[in-house]
Amino acid sequence: MKYESTRGTAPLLGFEDVLLAGLARDGGLYVPQSWPTLSRDDIASLAGLSYAEQAIRVITPFIGAAIPRDDLAAMVHDAYATFVHPAVTPLQQLAPNIWLLELFHGPTLAFKDVAMQLLSRMMDYELQRRGQRATIIGATSGDTGAAAVEGFRGREATDLFILHPKGRVSEAQRRQMTTVLDGRVHNIAIEGTFDDCQTIVKALFNDLEFRDRMNLGGVNSINWARVMAQIVYYFTAAVALGSPSRAVSFAVPTGNFGDIYAGYAAKRMGLPVDRLMIATNVNDILARVLATGRYDLGDVMATMSPSMDIQISSNFERVLYEGHGRDGAKISDLMSDLATQGGFALSNAAHAAIHDDFDASRTDEAETLGEIKRTLSETGMLIDPHTAVGVAAARKVEPSATPVVCLSTAHPAKFNDAVTRACGRQAELPPHLSDLFEREERYDVLPNSLAAVQAHIVSKSPMA
Ligand SMILES: *Cc1c(COP(=O)(O)O)cnc(C)c1O
Repeated sequence: MKYESTRGTAPLLGFEDVLLAGLARDGGLYVPQSWPTLSRDDIASLAGLSYAEQAIRVITPFIGAAIPRDDLAAMVHDAYATFVHPAVTPLQQLAPNIWLLELFHGPTLAFKDVAMQLLSRMMDYELQRRGQRATIIGATSGDTGAAAVEGFRGREATDLFILHPKGRVSEAQRRQMTTVLDGRVHNIAIEGTFDDCQTIVKALFNDLEFRDRMNLGGVNSINWARVMAQIVYYFTAAVALGSPSRAVSFAVPTGNFGDIYAGYAAKRMGLPVDRLMIATNVNDILARVLATGRYDLGDVMATMSPSMDIQISSNFERVLYEGHGRDGAKISDLMSDLATQGGFALSNAAHAAIHDDFDASRTDEAETLGEIKRTLSETGMLIDPHTAVGVAAARKVEPSATPVVCLSTAHPAKFNDAVTRACGRQAELPPHLSDLFEREERYDVLPNSLAAVQAHIVSKSPMA
């Protein structure tokens, strides 16, 4: 299996290089050169297997010979043993035709654990095989940083540096990062905003001398291996509900489009997926794209579902690429229009092709609170505000016999402010995190300065 860039000029790479590269050298995103497919029999034979066994069957075609089968199997089993539910991603029924796919039973209670637990193991494996080390750097507004810290703790070949904006992440989110006392995990609180953190991280990557010397690597959601790991639960959910004999639709709380793009990939692999419903909060750029065929940047608004507060939805580039007939030069043009003019128009054919697979729905703050309340009173279940945006969207999928699966992307206890506002009740942290607020914390506070962060990384790194 080879991978090509959505902007058409970067070299083709194998899985092991895509895993470590993240972004392509031409600024594009890597996608498989062609989609591997599973036959109806292959899909039917997933029924009844453990999550890890299904994962191995779904992802093996993307990895090919890059990782020997036994080593891959060991990593997959190890990654999903960190989840506290035996089904890893269990389904719950919410309404006659709506199911919740709970993706929050991993170490940090959000769906990002599903990919990060496997990505961190595969990166470490590949680095050790090459006899290399890497410095992994990321900026976080909460969930990604926590998942990265849990993923990379205890790994041998990586040093992780996570920047968060001081005082601007919730206490639970900060503690999930800062109570991991591992010598290779470094939390940095920046005296600034999330955008300041992201600007510093981008500048570190653009300093090519530093980048090469430290062998910088990224773990944001454009990494192909993260997408790949997320394809698995579309299969497990659909098979549990009767695929391949029965088609299934999905509603997905969406920000950077990594999660729902994995659903698109599952469909291209042969899973009978009917509708893919993009669920957005008031940051509704993707709903506007589907309605108008134009991608126009607006201002980011802060909401109760902060992991979806986004205007540039990076992974959307991958479906734009498919929609425009895999024309990398065209995507390059659109992305430079985005940078210079703040927007671009999809071709009519691309707009139609994307609409063939996707619908979109926007849910405002009042509706989000209303959905948390309604779900509690109808089912007794507490849901987090991201999931609530997804459930509101799931209710808008055209009624049919096709079941709708809403991806539940975070545990409600992670977003108790919204849960309490909606229904006057708090969700409890699960037992493995119940002492989170008593644990010892460790982090460094740095000014909003590239030079200060760079000097700090050098002082802590064994590679400097
Ligand atoms: C990251 C995240 C999302 C958005 O996922 P994307 O892949 O960026 O679309 C939704 N909900 C939660 C809780 C998240 O952490």
